[in-house]
Amino acid sequence: MKSDFSYDLLIIGGGISACVFASKFLQNNISKKIGIIEIGRRLGGRSSTRISKKFKGWKLNHGAPNFNISNSNDNLLLKNYIDQLLKNKFIKIDDSELISLGDNSNLEFLKKSQFYCGDNYLSSFSMGELSQKIIEFNDLRDKIDLFFGTLIVDLKFNNNEWISISNNGDKLISKYLICSSNLLLHKRSLKILNINQIPLRKAIPENKDKKIDLLLNLLDRQSFIPRLTFLIYTNEKYCYKDFYSKKYRYFFLNKKLQNKYKFERVIFQLQDNNKLGIVVHTKDIDFINSFINSKDEEFFKQAIFSHFNELFRNNSSVNQLTCNEEISIMKWRASQPSGYAVPLSLQFSKKYRIGFCGDWFEGEGFGRVEGSILSALILEEKFKTLSNTF
Ligand SMILES: Cc1cc2nc3c(=O)[nH]c(=O)nc-3n(C[C@H](O)[C@H](O)[C@H](O)COP(=O)(O)OP(=O)(O)OC[C@H]3O[C@@H](n4cnc5c(N)ncnc54)[C@H](O)[C@@H]3O)c2cc1C
Repeated sequence: MKSDFSYDLLIIGGGISACVFASKFLQNNISKKIGIIEIGRRLGGRSSTRISKKFKGWKLNHGAPNFNISNSNDNLLLKNYIDQLLKNKFIKIDDSELISLGDNSNLEFLKKSQFYCGDNYLSSFSMGELSQKIIEFNDLRDKIDLFFGTLIVDLKFNNNEWISISNNGDKLISKYLICSSNLLLHKRSLKILNINQIPLRKAIPENKDKKIDLLLNLLDRQSFIPRLTFLIYTNEKYCYKDFYSKKYRYFFLNKKLQNKYKFERVIFQLQDNNKLGIVVHTKDIDFINSFINSKDEEFFKQAIFSHFNELFRNNSSVNQLTCNEEISIMKWRASQPSGYAVPLSLQFSKKYRIGFCGDWFEGEGFGRVEGSILSALILEEKFKTLSNTF
């Protein structure tokens, strides 16, 4: 049966930007009814955690494992928000060991990089639970309807109202709409949703709103970095060679090693039951394509084991794997936007009652959690100016 739901504000996507926006928005609009629609099983999006039914007790952060905040422009909104997360003990300074592996897998000086500049923070829980905590903050959770396993496939703007249509035919009606992901605004939607017009373009035809036209034009030139992450569930006895006991330990590979082993970074994640999980990230496009084109997952798992053992053969901290460990694989079609970033000035259209947030906006946080949080905070400020008309 098709159902109709009605909201003051509907957010498409349940990643960290959506959760930050929802929580800030409700603090200032406590009487408003809002809904969040997420295709996944829980909150967090690309900053989420694999809680597997098959591998009980394991929680592995399979997207962003932590996040860094540069804030070199000293944005006060961002600074205050991060301080608030720290004060409430939702996050803490990440003092995990960060190791850079040089040409011969030797340790080398860690250079500043996209994910290693500014201050690094860890969720005090898993990354997925961080998004959950953010929307539970100030007892706001009950004010939000959450729809999981629901994909919005079509949008309509009629009589000053948005109608978002889900894959099961549900119609969600809202006065305002927030797109926290750009799936419905980008040409990649055509293939993924098997449609012939980008949903936002269909809802707002060309020449109706200059901002929307520009946003869609810029997004047309945005591309995405695909990634694979391999989640290794080690056996009971697997441990470090040394006595390292912090929750995380990160190994970054330099360019030459990345070419040789196809890994970008290897992250050890100590579990509550003291087992040691290992998450291997790759963004090597040839490797990813050969994985996608091959139906032989077992072959890739064995390649991961053998590359891992070779990479860490003479390492003083990391033990070899037996190659009988279980591995699960996460395929990210779009791990990070790249190329053109969208200016924050295009983030909101008053005429069409639509706002946008996420890591696809310009700024030093482009493609990172920092950009997602900042864009959500800035968008919420723009909503404050509407309070008389909302
Ligand atoms: C493997 C990996 C490693 C990373 N490492 C780092 C790192 O070290 N540091 C860092 O800062 N960043 C890192 N990132 C990037 C970081 O994860 C993202 O920048 C951030 O999580 C984006 O949050 P968001 O809310 O903007 O978007 P998302 O997390 O993508 O949230 C959007 C949500 O919308 C949902 N959605 C989309 N379309 C629809 C629809 N039509 N209907 C319903 N739901 C929909 C999606 O399922 C998703 O959950 C990494 C990303 C990946 C994948």
